[in-house]
Amino acid sequence: AKRSGRNGYAFFDRTLHEQVRIRVDLEQALRGALDRGELSVHYQPIVDLATDELSGFEALMRWNHPELGTVSPLEFIPIAEDTGLIVESGAWLLEEAAAQLVRWRAQRPAGLPELHISVNISVRQLRDAALVGVVRGVLDRTGLPASALWLEITESGVMEDPEGVLADLRALRDLGVTLCIDDFGTGYSSLSYLRFIPAGIVKIDRSFLAGVGAGSANEAIVRAVVAMAHTLGQEVVAEGVETLVQRDWLREHGCDRAQGWLYGAPRPAKAQLLWMDRSVSM
Ligand code: C2E
Ligand code: CA
Ligand code: CA
Ligand code: CA
Repeated sequence: AKRSGRNGYAFFDRTLHEQVRIRVDLEQALRGALDRGELSVHYQPIVDLATDELSGFEALMRWNHPELGTVSPLEFIPIAEDTGLIVESGAWLLEEAAAQLVRWRAQRPAGLPELHISVNISVRQLRDAALVGVVRGVLDRTGLPASALWLEITESGVMEDPEGVLADLRALRDLGVTLCIDDFGTGYSSLSYLRFIPAGIVKIDRSFLAGVGAGSANEAIVRAVVAMAHTLGQEVVAEGVETLVQRDWLREHGCDRAQGWLYGAPRPAKAQLLWMDRSVSM
């Protein structure tokens, strides 16, 4: 199989046989990735729309394979889930990101709002009985206040086992952690499940941002999500904000925060220093 530049292996236009072999190779390589130090964390800014000030970051996992280069999380996270490797690497990322945020909070000039860190929690992690203990341990060891930690969960993660997962979500909320519903709108039962997840934040999937500000039918959807979330006392974060037109429309329609290439792509921690002491001026 041939390689496809910076995104690693492409799955398109391949025979089933090739796909299976690539998958087995990736799985093999992923098993030792954490121990070999090939996993890292990138951070993407999340901005308060009312002020355009940095409010926090989402931590996103990266895999730097010595031969393949950067493998996309869209390819390796599903493998990490199936194999259970996500439990260990996810706990590692959580601790790494929490420790980084503690350093950033210490560096931030007085007068600016305290930063939060958002971490993705996959289905497999949600179903792991140790999750609440892992989160508590990370908060204890790093000294990060629970209120600064956001955990992003998806509908599919919850719907696979609502009863089993709900008790843990409540326990996390009781720790003071903020739960975010990630990729909102892409699942099948979004409305009913919004009611019973103890989430403080709804992240609108970026597929609904297309054409926003330019008269797209998506505007009605975003408006409805904002109205509904606010009624339930939840904040709304728009993901995948790429243009000023989108930003202006979102701000005008009461969306609380935004994240996307307009503000910055995910980058290593050291590339974020510029963000720490200024608001965005555009
Ligand atoms: P996600 O949680 O929805 O993360 C947002 C994705 O959108 C990121 O892709 C980010 O780079 C991308 N993005 C951000 N702004 C823009 C924009 O303005 N335009 C466009 N087109 N894309 C934008 P990334 O980093 O490749 O991650 C893909 C997915 O992999 C994530 O989607 C998440 O589901 C999963 N993932 C990443 N890191 C982790 C992790 O540590 N744990 C778990 N469980 N899943 C992770
Ligand atoms: Ca996310
Ligand atoms: Ca998302
Ligand atoms: Ca997504």
